[in-house]
Amino acid sequence: MEKICPLCNALQQITAECPQCGAALVDGGAVSSYLGPYSPYMDTQCLPFKSEDYCLHLIYCPVCQYDTRIQLAFVMI
Ligand SMILES: [Zn+2]
Ligand SMILES: [Zn+2]
Repeated sequence: MEKICPLCNALQQITAECPQCGAALVDGGAVSSYLGPYSPYMDTQCLPFKSEDYCLHLIYCPVCQYDTRIQLAFVMI
């Protein structure tokens, strides 16, 4: 058994819509892969970031540049 992120491994697609313009949001990748846990860009409300339980993804709107972060629960394979 192994814990994987369903989004990083293409098992799941982002289906969220942009709250500003309604376009389909795009996965910008796992935040933890390029931002450290103590990054100033990390919202304090997201701490503590438990990388063993969640994969944090940046998702964005390609139309109006709206962006947000979502936590993806790992799945066992
Ligand atoms: Zn991921
Ligand atoms: Zn948008």
